[in-house]
Amino acid sequence: MSFDLSKLLRPHIAEMKPYSSARDEYTGAEGVFLDANENAYGSTTSEDFSRYPDPHAKAVKAKYGQLIGFNPSQIFLGNGSDEPIDLLVRAFCNPGVDNVVILPPTYGMYKVSAALNNVTIKTALLDSDFQIDVPKTLETIDENTKIVFLCSPNNPTGNSVHYKDIVSILQNTNCIVVVDQAYIDFAPEGNFLPEIKNYPHLVVLRTFSKAWGLAALRLGMAFGSQAIIDILNKIKPPYNINVLTQLKVLEALDGIDKKDKAVAQILANRTELVQQLAKLDIVKKIYPSDANYLLVVFENSDKVFGYLIEKQVIVRDRSKEPGCAGALRISVGTTQENETLMKYLKEFSL
Ligand SMILES: *Cc1c(COP(=O)(O)O)cnc(C)c1O
Repeated sequence: MSFDLSKLLRPHIAEMKPYSSARDEYTGAEGVFLDANENAYGSTTSEDFSRYPDPHAKAVKAKYGQLIGFNPSQIFLGNGSDEPIDLLVRAFCNPGVDNVVILPPTYGMYKVSAALNNVTIKTALLDSDFQIDVPKTLETIDENTKIVFLCSPNNPTGNSVHYKDIVSILQNTNCIVVVDQAYIDFAPEGNFLPEIKNYPHLVVLRTFSKAWGLAALRLGMAFGSQAIIDILNKIKPPYNINVLTQLKVLEALDGIDKKDKAVAQILANRTELVQQLAKLDIVKKIYPSDANYLLVVFENSDKVFGYLIEKQVIVRDRSKEPGCAGALRISVGTTQENETLMKYLKEFSL
């Protein structure tokens, strides 16, 4: 299928001139800076935050690009992954006219971003194994579909979606195909970054919120063809990545071994948690997980959920999601947290 980005892009966005910040217009590091109305006497805090950050977070992109072997200019950085999700909807979907296709049960923000922008949401449910029903999904995509949101490993189900099925969607559509890989560090395979060179309509999302343990810093990433990344950069708020986030992520990138160790520990804890949960009579099903959480079907899940809250163990009730009756989503915690969870679940079972 032929892909024509200019046909997908909303015309006013093609025409608009982006905001040009002070730091866009003068990029030198040395000088007397009287161009951005900052406070020249510095901050009211002990550390100095008086100067605007690099609007393109070039150092972060260069270092992360080097680490994963990806062209830094094809990396977009957002205030969490939620920002590229929202910007993609705003760049491509004409409110009241266009639609996005989502595959529930899945991550809630795709729907929220579409709804916020008055963009119709069409759904093609995942099958009973939470895999893509390729024919149904392709049928659901119509001439007004601008974006298909896929998520692998999928939240809240935890499974990786079959690689070949995502490729089928890519090969048979000419709208933007987003593959959200927030949990890819926990999965043994299925990284879609290498496919970006093959598919100009593919956008891959990653985040520092999960494996890197930096959820509070709010740094999400989008990867795609230069043309798509240029559009996101054109419409983003000028200084969307604050200086603390830039500095802390640069520091984090020096410690990839720490991230890998944490992932290994979480995977070991997940295996242990599966074994323990499987022994309980109230547990009806534990779905296979390639992520740092488990979707678990309980007998009487409402009661289990409420009981755990009474014990101040908070899990996520996903039982109202399609195909998820009786299911709670449990993040894998530390060894001790998992033991606490299991202690209460065993007591509940008695
Ligand atoms: C947690 C999560 C994200 C990450 O969101 P951030 O805004 O980057 O914290 C993205 N997608 C999915 C599916 C997630 O579960």
